[in-house]
Amino acid sequence: MKYVYGPVPSRRLGNSLGIDPIPSKTCNYQCIYCQLGKTTNFTNIRKNYFPKKDITAEIEKAIKLNENKFDYITFVGSGEPTLYKDLKDLIIKTKELSEKPLCVITNGSLLYEKGVQNALIYSDVVLPSLDAGDEKSFLRINRPHPSINFEKLIQGFIDFKKKFEGRFWIEVMLMKGINDSKEELFKIKEKIDIIKPDKIDINVPIRPPVEKWVEIPDNSIFLILNEIFGDYSNISFPEKGLFRTHSLDFEKEVLSILERHPMRQDQIIETFSTSGLNKEMIITGLKKLKSQERIKEILYNKQTFWKLNLD
Ligand code: SF4
Repeated sequence: MKYVYGPVPSRRLGNSLGIDPIPSKTCNYQCIYCQLGKTTNFTNIRKNYFPKKDITAEIEKAIKLNENKFDYITFVGSGEPTLYKDLKDLIIKTKELSEKPLCVITNGSLLYEKGVQNALIYSDVVLPSLDAGDEKSFLRINRPHPSINFEKLIQGFIDFKKKFEGRFWIEVMLMKGINDSKEELFKIKEKIDIIKPDKIDINVPIRPPVEKWVEIPDNSIFLILNEIFGDYSNISFPEKGLFRTHSLDFEKEVLSILERHPMRQDQIIETFSTSGLNKEMIITGLKKLKSQERIKEILYNKQTFWKLNLD
């Protein structure tokens, strides 16, 4: 499938059926921690990047195929989903096709746009990111499109949260020496207090980031987090559970997951063991794709990861 993938295990949403309406690496941010690699289509233009009818046909098929195998349907993927112009139509159609809760994972940059607000209002959960407490850190961490500024971003969060009746959970990505000092965290908390989300998820770069100098904070951060966020926060850990595959074609399946989601080698082995492959066969398959330069192996945080080779 081209626009739908998974179900994949998600830290916050259990098993999630992913819908990806945006071409790979099309985004209005270039985050230093992005796990997908460099933003190759850096744009803030909202348009229908793929035909709506093709996406909805796939959503319908995937929902039927995976009945009872997922907890959430999630708009997310290899770019910023709110850049899809008719996102509202896609969300409404998906809600007609399934009773499962629908979530949109977004960088939150366009929450100030009426068109985006009118689309996301139909979802059950919205998960935006907020990694900075001021313009300077915002530019350093998210490297946004020049047409996006920090004040507008925060106002968008505030305005949307006021009208949204679903759950609004903010994710903060913490990085060592970048935004993990008390001073930076207090600034983020100040903004969060104005926005009033239902929950904050504190995350750390558990998968290889685009910039090699981005690192996971030291454990001492937990004390600071408790002091600043108290019970508000929820530290995320690497996801557990199996990714789901649709066929026995190892290459096709592994490439489809890695396109949106770099994986630890042990996760790949666990996932594909269920389709009758043993560890040796899986590693041979990965090495073959590596020799064809379609995927690459990365050692990060003492673990082996595999991701799509976009170089
Ligand atoms: S992390 Fe998300 S918002 Fe940031 S560049 Fe990557 S796709 Fe865009």
